[in-house]
Amino acid sequence: MSKKIVLSGSRPTGNIHLGNYFGALENWVRLQDDYNCYFFIADWHALTTGYDDTKDLYKNTVSLMADFLASGLDPNKATLFLQSLVSPHAELYLLLGMNTPLSWLERCPTYKDMMANMTEKDIATYGFLGYPVLQAADILMYKADYVPVGEDQIPHLEMTREIARRFNYLYESAIFPEPQPLLTKSKVLPGTDGRKMSKSYGNTIALADTPDEVSQKVMSMITDPARIRKDDPGHPEVCTVFAFHKVFSEDEVSDIEEQCRKGTIGCVACKRKLQARMARFHTPIYEKRQKLLEDESGLLDIIRDGSRKASEAAERTIEEVRKAVRIGI
Ligand code: SF4
Repeated sequence: MSKKIVLSGSRPTGNIHLGNYFGALENWVRLQDDYNCYFFIADWHALTTGYDDTKDLYKNTVSLMADFLASGLDPNKATLFLQSLVSPHAELYLLLGMNTPLSWLERCPTYKDMMANMTEKDIATYGFLGYPVLQAADILMYKADYVPVGEDQIPHLEMTREIARRFNYLYESAIFPEPQPLLTKSKVLPGTDGRKMSKSYGNTIALADTPDEVSQKVMSMITDPARIRKDDPGHPEVCTVFAFHKVFSEDEVSDIEEQCRKGTIGCVACKRKLQARMARFHTPIYEKRQKLLEDESGLLDIIRDGSRKASEAAERTIEEVRKAVRIGI
């Protein structure tokens, strides 16, 4: 039986941090063994909010592929490609855009939320309003059975399902299956200051950080503010270091919790433990990443090869779509 198809993408907006890694990449690495996976660098999506500043797009694209590979994605198992090298995405986006009601896009929660909160740049553009259509084109292009999402992203996928349904209905075709969410339980890491890990808060730990930078960031993490002396009883539930131990020190986390509550471990010693655990995880990925980046043309070949492979599947779909819409001769 052929494997079910999974699709997901990531925008090339800068270095992948541990929040991204545990929120998506770690899971993608697992999925590539059991599914026919398409994972892509969403450079057109990066333009929907960053159209006015594209100077780092190339660098970010290459480094995102290095992040993918260093994290364990394998071009022999999954199709890893660059969206803008697969031009049928643009054609499908255009055709789907012709029949997607404006009201669907205007009611999209992310659209409303970002229009209200993103004050530092002008995103009142046609491209930003239409990004869910581009997203639908990305997913439907490969007739994906599943899209890995967290609970909060299910409404986004619903829009793709609606767009597929409408296309099939309008053109009396059954080209597009309705993709299902592949719910994933991912580990959640806060940023180094305890808030959500985000580049805009400056509280990230990136795969690209040097081992020294990671160690320094661990030392600067916020701990339980109520602990003044080393033997004061602590409250691990309010401590960022402890949140990291839950991910990186699973076999020791209950001991750490007990020692913290009893005041038998100091915060410096606790951070040193975390430094060692994180180094075990991060340093091999960092070193692999550095090695990959030394061979930029090798990375470009991987991007081009994957994009060629994706294009073959995309061309087959767009051919069916043109026939259904009766466009072209
Ligand atoms: S001992 Fe560890 S878990 Fe407890 S407050 Fe200090 S750093 Fe946090």
